[in-house]
Amino acid sequence: MAKIIRSQRAGTSSVRSAPKKKAAKAAKPLPKGVAKKPATKAAKKVAKPKPWTAAEVFEAFDRFRKANPEPKGELEHLNPYTLLVAVVLSAQATDAGVNKATRALFAIADTPEKMLELGEDRVRDYIKTIGLYRNKAKNVIALSEKLIADFGSEVPRTRAEIESLPGAGRKTANVVLNMAFGEHTMAVDTHVFRVGNRTGLAPGKTPLEVELGLEKVIPAEFMLHAHHWLILHGRYTCLARGPRCDVCLINDLCRWPEKTV
Ligand code: SF4
Repeated sequence: MAKIIRSQRAGTSSVRSAPKKKAAKAAKPLPKGVAKKPATKAAKKVAKPKPWTAAEVFEAFDRFRKANPEPKGELEHLNPYTLLVAVVLSAQATDAGVNKATRALFAIADTPEKMLELGEDRVRDYIKTIGLYRNKAKNVIALSEKLIADFGSEVPRTRAEIESLPGAGRKTANVVLNMAFGEHTMAVDTHVFRVGNRTGLAPGKTPLEVELGLEKVIPAEFMLHAHHWLILHGRYTCLARGPRCDVCLINDLCRWPEKTV
């Protein structure tokens, strides 16, 4: 939290006894990095926006639904296994970049057994255009081995089981549970995190805070698609730089003080 530094006012009674010393003290610059005005601005910025009412949240998601009744994720996959692999590969990478690599990979390896047969070196060759590919190739092989050994070659259906797989965290579990099994989970990526905070729908300092906040406010009837609506909204409208507030479906509801409408 920003610390507000109060400047001291020079007293008038002692001015005559030590005028030079006092004047010098008043003129002394504040320590490096401390300034009165910015601190005040920062304090204003962290002021909490007014929470959305239930009717406003319903209205926002009703608009998303009308505009795009069946939103789809953009990570290409053939089955729950390839979805899991694609999500693991997508960490710190774009969906388009992952798709470019996985099209050829999944054409020859769409099951854990086929992936093991292919082997780590060849998996690495297929995905070498994706960031962190060496480690990701290791994880793809390791998670395929675990699926065969512990889960009968099937992608498990619980969060804890998915999170037990190498390279899979909470976000991976949420995407797989939602897209492969229709669970009402909320995966928070960089776009959902930004939209949740900017709009004031579910402010939070961590992805988990935003995830839990969104789950709390979004009505159940929207939860199956809410994750995709928010991702697509962040990716194409509520951009990190230069959000397109003028064409935003929810610009009248959004709480962001810097919105441009
Ligand atoms: S009004 Fe602007 S900041 Fe608010 S959600 Fe829409 S695009 Fe984002």
